[in-house]
Amino acid sequence: MIVTCPWCGYEWNTRSRMRQITCPDCHGKFPQPAPAVRLLNDIEPCDLCGHEGLEYHVCRIDGDAAIVCSACLGKIANGEVK
Ligand SMILES: [Zn+2]
Ligand SMILES: [Zn+2]
Repeated sequence: MIVTCPWCGYEWNTRSRMRQITCPDCHGKFPQPAPAVRLLNDIEPCDLCGHEGLEYHVCRIDGDAAIVCSACLGKIANGEVK
């Protein structure tokens, strides 16, 4: 989980499950933020065209997780979308 220190702005990836996180940069302590949960449901917009309410495919584009609609998936497969 990426956290940002509220004291010095230092950003890092922590695996800490402690309720208090200690910044490795300034050693300031702050409470663990709530995890960012993203629910995937039928109103999730397509990552590429932003359309909602379509059929989705979870895939990886250049190694990054993405959710795209059927139309965009076809375009990617045809090399129309980079
Ligand atoms: Zn800090
Ligand atoms: Zn799309």
